[in-house]
Amino acid sequence: MTIEKGFNRKYNCPICELRAWLIKRLELNEELPPNETGFLGQLGEEIKSMGFTRGGDWKYCLDSKSGPVIDDKTTNKIPVGVEIPGYGIMTDVCPICGTVYSTHLSRIDAIIKPRLERPGLGGRDGPNPFFSN
Ligand SMILES: [Zn+2]
Repeated sequence: MTIEKGFNRKYNCPICELRAWLIKRLELNEELPPNETGFLGQLGEEIKSMGFTRGGDWKYCLDSKSGPVIDDKTTNKIPVGVEIPGYGIMTDVCPICGTVYSTHLSRIDAIIKPRLERPGLGGRDGPNPFFSN
């Protein structure tokens, strides 16, 4: 699978999705409650409706991380202006089964910018050859 530029997907709990599929496939007389948002996402919507958040597309979740995909020991080898792959990940907890899962995954490409370093100190691997004033 290639992760194309602009990749951006939303996910539901994989355990509940599988359980719903099995219930349908085996024609069981059982229903799962709908779950469009994780536990913390639902609590976030509650406080959003109270007007105590930024509004818009603000979302609350268990954890969220983003950044470029780099090897810290070779960062200085990447020239300024080069575009490298980056990521955005949000996780939450399923309020039905307790599974921690990814609610959003996205590819966020980033362009290497000049590093601001204090003169004479250099980086961990020595002075950045791409640094310029
Ligand atoms: Zn679940």
